[in-house]
Amino acid sequence: MILDKEVQAYFRKEEERQNGGIELIASENYPSVDVREASSSIFMAKYAEGYPSHRYYGGCENVDAVENLAMERAQKLFRVAYVNVQPHSGSQANFAAYHALIKPGDKVLSLTLNDGGHLTHGSPVSFSASTYDFVHYPLGEDGKLDYDIIAKKLDEENPDLFLAGYSAYPYAIDFKRMRELIDAHNAAKGAHCLFMVDMAHIAGIVAAGLCQNPCDYADLVTTTTHKTLRGPRGGLIMTNREDLVKPIKSAVFPYTQGGPLEHIIASKAVNFLEDLQPSFKEYMQNVLDNTKAAAEELSRLGCVVSGTENHLFLLNVLDSFGLTGLEAQTKLESIGITTNKNMIHGDTLKPSQTSGLRIGFAASTTRGCTKKQVIEIADLIYEVLRGKEEDLSRYKEKVAGITSTWKDVMDLHQL
Ligand SMILES: *Cc1c(COP(=O)(O)O)cnc(C)c1O
Repeated sequence: MILDKEVQAYFRKEEERQNGGIELIASENYPSVDVREASSSIFMAKYAEGYPSHRYYGGCENVDAVENLAMERAQKLFRVAYVNVQPHSGSQANFAAYHALIKPGDKVLSLTLNDGGHLTHGSPVSFSASTYDFVHYPLGEDGKLDYDIIAKKLDEENPDLFLAGYSAYPYAIDFKRMRELIDAHNAAKGAHCLFMVDMAHIAGIVAAGLCQNPCDYADLVTTTTHKTLRGPRGGLIMTNREDLVKPIKSAVFPYTQGGPLEHIIASKAVNFLEDLQPSFKEYMQNVLDNTKAAAEELSRLGCVVSGTENHLFLLNVLDSFGLTGLEAQTKLESIGITTNKNMIHGDTLKPSQTSGLRIGFAASTTRGCTKKQVIEIADLIYEVLRGKEEDLSRYKEKVAGITSTWKDVMDLHQL
């Protein structure tokens, strides 16, 4: 308990908001009590620029031991030879990763941003586009990755780096096929295109062994730790290539960051141990099952929905209800269901409006959302988006009824 009453009051309100709402934002999740406590530990007070055994400060024996533990656990979790656990966030992991792999001005081939890419994958408002020359591959007509288009773009653009991994892509990704296409392109053209995967969204599914592991195919993989992994806010960079370890290390420190957040690294270590337990695989399977059940129910009700092979799907609210994504998001928020507006493939509206909603079940499943409740939630979304504004109090009661059966967000003990 902190003494600052003003700040404490907002913590209380946020607890209430999180406990009372149905969180369907695909990039969010609830950390365990252990992960949260480690992230506010005494390690916060320690400067440790550098890496274990090679620090610029004395007194690092304890943070060294924990950073080594975090690395070992992450290496085991992702079945990979090297993991750098220092990046402060997913975006900073990408910033450092590009620097480790390519030079300013080099060409990067990434997914068209409106099709589900991330800002750091070449958006004009991000450092990425002002430092590197981004060109893009679109999704196929059906909104899925089209590997023939990728092969064609590799040949046409001859990029220095091919980038996969997305923020709003609901289907499985064939990393093996991408590796084969890049290898074939490199052999045919005498080119040296590298392969990077940003698995920020699906890292939990990868860790649970429920999809292809990009570490088996890419030269370098980045991720966040706070989405499906359920850890503290942060980033990771990993590789199986011995020759990339040094460039990655110096790209993180000193190129992009100073002192690492050792309290967050401790929290990452705690989270990796949780994710190595059989219960995490069960959790992740439940997330996939719940997400699929919701998409199927909305489809059964006649909605235009993407379908799903991971923890999220896209609901076309313009074609389903005549609403923009922003209107749908606002309507759901007013009854306690949190989602986010999202561009869909072939979207005709602006990013500030959009035709779609992105919906995911990673967070609600952590709190104990059952399959039966998933159907109730899908029905509720349908009724609210279709219905008139007047009935909102009835919907709010339904939301409260569901969340009252769930675990308290402050009291999650995963181990
Ligand atoms: C969320 C996300 C990131 C960025 O993570 P931050 O920690 O918010 O910087 C990067 N890449 C992808 C694909 C993401 O979905």
